[in-house]
Formats: sequence, structure tokens, C-alpha cells
Amino acid sequence: MNNFKNSKMNVDALFLGPKSENAVFFKEMMEYAVSEHMHWRSGYHPEDPDLISTVDRYAPEYRDTLYRTEGILNQLSSKLKTTSVPWFSPRYMGHMNADTFMISNLAYVMAMMYNPNNCAQESSPTTTVLEIEAGLDLCGMFGYDVQNSWGHITSGGTVANYEGLWVARNLKTLPLAMAKHPQAQALLSDKSDHALLNMSTVSILDLIDVLKKQGLFEAVREMTCRGEGIEQGKLGKLLVPQSKHYSWLKAMDILGLGQQNIVQLPVDENYRTDVNQMRQIIFSLIEQGEPILAVVAVVGTTETGAIDNVAEVIKLRSECETRFGVSFYVHIDAAYAGYACAMFRDENNQFIDYEALIQRYHNEGVFPPDVVWPKPDVYESFKALNQADSITVDPHKVGFIPYAAGAICMKDKRIVDLISYHAAYVFEEVQEKSRKSDKQQNVLLGSSIMEGSKAGATAAAVWAAHRLVPLNLWGYGKVIAAGVTTANWLIEKINLSQPFVIDNREFEIMAMPSPDFHMVNFMFKESSNTCLVKQNQLNKRIYELCSYAAGRTYANDFLTSSTSLSYEEYGDNPKNLCCDAGFSESEWDKVRSIYVLRAAIMTHCLRDKQHFDSYWEELTNIFEDKLQQLIDEENKHSQPNQKVSI
Ligand SMILES: *Cc1c(COP(=O)(O)O)cnc(C)c1O
Repeated sequence: MNNFKNSKMNVDALFLGPKSENAVFFKEMMEYAVSEHMHWRSGYHPEDPDLISTVDRYAPEYRDTLYRTEGILNQLSSKLKTTSVPWFSPRYMGHMNADTFMISNLAYVMAMMYNPNNCAQESSPTTTVLEIEAGLDLCGMFGYDVQNSWGHITSGGTVANYEGLWVARNLKTLPLAMAKHPQAQALLSDKSDHALLNMSTVSILDLIDVLKKQGLFEAVREMTCRGEGIEQGKLGKLLVPQSKHYSWLKAMDILGLGQQNIVQLPVDENYRTDVNQMRQIIFSLIEQGEPILAVVAVVGTTETGAIDNVAEVIKLRSECETRFGVSFYVHIDAAYAGYACAMFRDENNQFIDYEALIQRYHNEGVFPPDVVWPKPDVYESFKALNQADSITVDPHKVGFIPYAAGAICMKDKRIVDLISYHAAYVFEEVQEKSRKSDKQQNVLLGSSIMEGSKAGATAAAVWAAHRLVPLNLWGYGKVIAAGVTTANWLIEKINLSQPFVIDNREFEIMAMPSPDFHMVNFMFKESSNTCLVKQNQLNKRIYELCSYAAGRTYANDFLTSSTSLSYEEYGDNPKNLCCDAGFSESEWDKVRSIYVLRAAIMTHCLRDKQHFDSYWEELTNIFEDKLQQLIDEENKHSQPNQKVSI
């Protein structure tokens, strides 16, 4: 992990900037990338003759083709400029999007011109190695032992989740396959079916080692579910929080495990998995003899940014092992907040003690004095990540990298053999060699991961970002802290703000208190309104005015996203929010859903308090305008339409 000790890094110098402040540098580097590539072409076998002459290039058809190329690009550019969402601006506060790092955009373009395909190293000699390095960077950030772990880039968190469940599924069936294999059977010392379905990850991986030594592994692997399919319902339940991303439903469907085998874990009043209920559910599954395929904890839920209590999940697993001899796979869906693990690591990649961390944040200006982050239990969750079997994380969210960049990290790389499509021993050897020597090897990423052909440019973008912005509190820590700071200030301003008075009607703005990360859920409320349906309509209408749905994305003053916090996902927990907003419990019981505006605060450019204060002033003006617009529309609609009376 070279360069990780470099602490001199300016956050504003990482991005092109909301006004393209770094335009000169960015252009220069883009020009550099293009001209380097052109030299590369012309320098390749200079003895080869030019195949296209100047005369050829002046032919009418030739010119025409170039003109049309330009024309189509003009069209595309004008489409993009009128319809794209201005992620770079702090006026955009919605999904997990912000400006992306210059270095990643440049590295992407630079590598893309060479068109490397990371499916196989023979089509991507450089970028395959970069992908393996970038994967190990992430493993190191999570506290995995980089000698024994493994990570790679996926198209996103969705595919990373699929892959996590894929290894968990194949792992679960390995002991069953062994029991069916005449020679492998002997290694199991007469375990019951029940015991075979409840083994710990590490004990199964140790068995794989034994199988390999005896030359049995590949034969047994073909008898796992990957060869023989799965018996319906046999592999037990997948436990995921109710707040889950819907990729888990798709994953159970695609992997043939069945959505009916999902057990949804209820959340508590902080929108995190309710630890006590999880405990009861797991114990009762064990009592019923139902195996647990895997338990998923979410680090940064998509809707509220809640951070599940990972430490408690890990503790519970140990408890189940000692009390009942039952273990289960643990996967962490940290697609959203995973990169925040960098905020806890020092220059030597050590996880910093809580007190020391808070002190360093404030002494070294990572956070201003008035922002205290994280809560102690959030800290414990990040600390426990290294105990999980696998982790999903999205570089294209809080990694500030352009699409499509997700990633999965696996604690013990031996697990890859369960999904890979080549002889097991070759892979490890080759992976080692490709990291250690300059000699080209043919690492076949495509045969050990879910995807096949994939952009090497993405690997270059992630790798380059990790080299410039270290995965510690000085690098990503500072960048992410800017968003967390802004989120905190925003909530504070919302809490202190005076009601808007428009046409003698009074509207308040309120926020969900103390999020775990930088997702701010907020809403407007007409002070006199006691009807939750009307409340939801108001905020839905505001969303429409402040989103692409208004039809003038580029010209719009402010853009946000929205969601409904409903009973199906959150039980009665949103009732607190309803009551805080002044609605009666019976309103909640009737409607059981509350519509909120949702903003992942990722911007790096409001970390200066003065900038933030003027931004907030502008924002309140915008809110006032939007409310006015809404009331004007309401008034227009409520006036009798004279033309109708024909
Ligand atoms: C975004 C997200 C996903 C899906 O990731 P994609 O990159 O959109 O495929 C999965 N889980 C969580 C918690 C997420 O926030």
C-alpha cells in the first residue's frame, strides 16, 4: 500500500469543481492522455507504411463521414447538456452522487483508449493487475489480512451482492457434496445432515484444503449445487434487514434459492436491524432445525443511511457456535457507506481507538469542532467489519469514481475456488505471481467472478484514486468528512429554521434526527395540517418540483430525491417521525407510510461554514419559491374552470 503515508492532500484539488475551477489542469491532463495514446499508436512499428494518405482524407465521402461524426456528437452533447443531472453542484442533494475525482475520470479515459478487457489478463496485461491491487486496497481498508483475502471490481453493489450470496450458497453445499462422495465422506467424521448444514465458513474452507491435498476437490465441487442444482428449500434461510436493497430479492431469485426463503429482520427506532429481535429469530430458527444460509447486515441503508450493528451480528454468531454448534455466513452490504471505513484508519492502516480518533478529527481539522462523528456503536460496527466473510462496497458511490464500479471483498480467498471455473491451485499461484513479478501471467478474472468481459478502464480509475487519495482519515477520510459535516449542519439549520409563511399559510421544514452517516431525510409540513395523506401529497409534489420530473433538470434551482418510509419496511418505527411532526398515532395507523425527501450529502464544497451559511440562505429562498409555486398551482386548480360548462 504505497503512498498511504502521504498526508498532504487538498480536497478541492481532487475534483474538476462546480465551476470547472480546475479546467486548465484537467484539459492539460486530458490532452496528455490523448496525445500519449496517439504517440503509442504511431510509435508502434514505425516501419509500417501509412495506409491512409492525405489525398484519401480529402475525398468527399471521407470528409462527409467526419462531418457526420461531428454532427452526431453535437447532437449527443446537446442532449446530455440539457438532460443530465448536475451531480457536481451542491444544488444536487439526492441519490449517492457527487462530483467524481479528476484522477479517476482521467485514468478512465486514458485506459479506455487502450480498450483493455479485464476478463482475461491476455487482453488487459496492465489493468488486471490494477484490479487485483485495487481489490486488495479495499480488503486492507476493511481490516482483512491482504495476504489471505481477495477483492475485485464488479459493475456495482448489485452484482457484488449476487457474488456474496453465490459463494455462500456453494459453500453451504460443499459438506453435503462431501457426504455423497465415497472418499470424501471419510473426512466428515459421521456428521448428521443438520451438522453438515451448519458448519462455520472457516471449517469448510479447511476441508477444501484437505480435499485439494487428496486430489478430490474438483470432483466434490462438481457435486455441490453448482453441478447438481439445489434441492428446494434445503439450504435454509437468508436473513436480511427489512431495510434491505432490493438486489437481495433479485439475488435469491437468480440463484434459485427462492425469495420465500428470505427472513426479513425488523428494524429498531434507529432504522437499524433490531438486535434483540434478530437474536430471537436466529434462536428460533436453530430450534426448528432450520439452517441459516447467511445473515446480511447493511452498512449504510439505501433509504436512511442506517448502519447495522455489525459487532452484535458477529458476537451472536460466536454465541450460536458455542451454544448450539451452529454457524452461518455473514455478508455485509456496505455498498453505500463502506468507504467510510477509511475514516477510522491512520497512516499505517491501523484502526484508531475511539477517543484518539475523535481527538485527531478535531485537532487535525478533519471535522470542525461542532461536529462529532461517529456514534460509538457506529464506530464498533466499522471495527467489526474484518470479522465478516464478505463485504460489498461501491466505489461509484462514496468512492467518487465514475460508473460502473462496485466491488466485493472476501475475507478468505480460498472461498473463490467454490465459484471458479479452473483448476483451483492454478488460480492462487497465478494471482501471487502476477502481483510479485513483472512477467506476464494470464490471470483469468472472468473465470472466478460473476461477470465476463469488463472494462479495464474502471480498474484504472479505482486504482488511481486509491493511489492519490489514501484509504485513511487523511485521504478519503477528509473527503467523506466534508459530506458528513455538511449533513450535520443541514440538519441543524433545518431544526432551527423559522416557518415559511406563504399566502397566510405556514409551512415548517423538519428533518429526521441524527442519522448514522450522511443521509438526510427531511420534509415540509403545513403547520395546520393534521392529515397524513395530505402531508404525503405535499412532499410528493415538492419532490416533483425539485427533481428531474420537473422537466428542466439543468435549469432547476435544487434537486433532491425521495422515498416512502412504510410499515412494510420499517414496521411502526416511522410513527415516531409522524408524531414528532404533529400527526396523531391513528393517522399513522391509517396510512402507514410517510413520504420524505431524501438527500445523500456527498458534496465536498460546503465544508467551509461561511460557504455553507450562504448556501443555506439561498436554499431557503428556493424552498420559499417552490412552496409559492405549489400554492399558486393549488389555487389555479381550485378555481372553477369556466370552459367546462358547455
Ligand atoms: C446502492 C446499493 C446497492 C446496489 O448497488 P448498485 O451499485 O446500484 O448495483 C446495494 N445495497 C445497498 C445498501 C446500496 O445502497
